[in-house]
Amino acid sequence: MQTDTTTKLALSVEQARERILSGLRPVDAVEKVTLSAAAGRILAEDLIARLPVPAFANSAMDGYALAGRDLPVNGERRLRVIGSSLAGHPFMDTVGTVACVRIMTGAMLPSGTDTVVMQEEVRTAGADIVIRAGHRIGENVRLPGSDVPTGSRVLEHGRRLRPGDLGVIASLGLPEVNVRRRVRIAFFSTGDELREPGVKLAPGQIYERNRYTLSATLASLGADFVDLGVVPDQPEAIRAAMKSASQADIVLTSGGVSVGDTDYVRQVLAELGEISFWRVAMKPGKPLAFGRLGNAWFFGLPGNPVSALVTFQLFVAPALHVLAGESYREPFTLRAQTLCAFDKRQGRAEFPRGILSRKDGAWFVGSAGSQDSSALSVMSRANCFVLLPAEAATIPAGMEIEVMPFDVPV
Ligand code: AMP
Ligand code: MG
Repeated sequence: MQTDTTTKLALSVEQARERILSGLRPVDAVEKVTLSAAAGRILAEDLIARLPVPAFANSAMDGYALAGRDLPVNGERRLRVIGSSLAGHPFMDTVGTVACVRIMTGAMLPSGTDTVVMQEEVRTAGADIVIRAGHRIGENVRLPGSDVPTGSRVLEHGRRLRPGDLGVIASLGLPEVNVRRRVRIAFFSTGDELREPGVKLAPGQIYERNRYTLSATLASLGADFVDLGVVPDQPEAIRAAMKSASQADIVLTSGGVSVGDTDYVRQVLAELGEISFWRVAMKPGKPLAFGRLGNAWFFGLPGNPVSALVTFQLFVAPALHVLAGESYREPFTLRAQTLCAFDKRQGRAEFPRGILSRKDGAWFVGSAGSQDSSALSVMSRANCFVLLPAEAATIPAGMEIEVMPFDVPV
């Protein structure tokens, strides 16, 4: 691992991300899970279809199955209805000429037929139906393998399984799939001032927020996490917490990573592990420590609640994707026009919290409120980060800029 001896230098966001991601390898352990437990897991195998889907020709409509050669070229033709084929109850005889079978959606096409005429398009006449000209041979039939041909690669390893994928796997008759084990994360917050919601605060104390925002984010990313609680600003306590956390793949802390008198996290990390860097030229989130703690990757997030969330999204979330074995995906961003000016200092990347809206098919972004990194209510009201690159100065209203929505389509 590269280490800054001159810890004075702040890395750019891109350098920091590159430094973090270049060392990571996916966890190797694979486990078999049932389909009902597989949502959101990372597929650890390529799934090849051993069966065609559908397995047999079936009807896409409620109507009548017949042989295409019986369709009238002009005028009308009368066909005798000789039976019915329902979903799960096929008609097992062969259908001869000038005959047809009543058929429902999903039911198997009887042998001798290759076409289904919708019931709305026929007239019944006693035991017969009357069909007009204008139909096409093969219409309203789902052919075997038309959804998934035998031998095709249906899903590739590295895919985060979505609801539709699970249906596809079920359609292949597979009750279980191989997925990578979940990434294990241990985290704690530091701060003598922090108390749990529900207790009465003494002067100078505040309610803990970061473990709540972080555990919700980790849960939504499918990580397996342990919450080690709040640790006081004491080197021995931080040392003990780091030791007990170091069995995880990622150790995450919040607070105590800056240059304050009680900021001991870096000191303890340097003692028990290794610091790769601890400053990034960004706002919010400048003090972000990254390094190694035993076999774990260590992220010391800043304590300010907004900074903790921004640095999580920019650095920890991509690291989690790589460790999880998920195929690489670019963070989802889109371009929007600014509805107001965004103050900005050149030389550092800034991530103000914005409100993205859509009007007449175009995207617009305004400020969500105070850009103070402790203003968590603004983050809660916002729906995106505005991405202002390091080289930019203040952005006026009416400019096109890039934003990263919080709720990302997958
Ligand atoms: P620190 O990074 O420890 O210097 O903390 C920066 C600011 O964030 C201080 O105002 C802390 O009180 C606050 N803070 C730190 N950790 C938390 C937390 N877990 N929840 C809420 N606020 C926090
Ligand atoms: Mg602190």
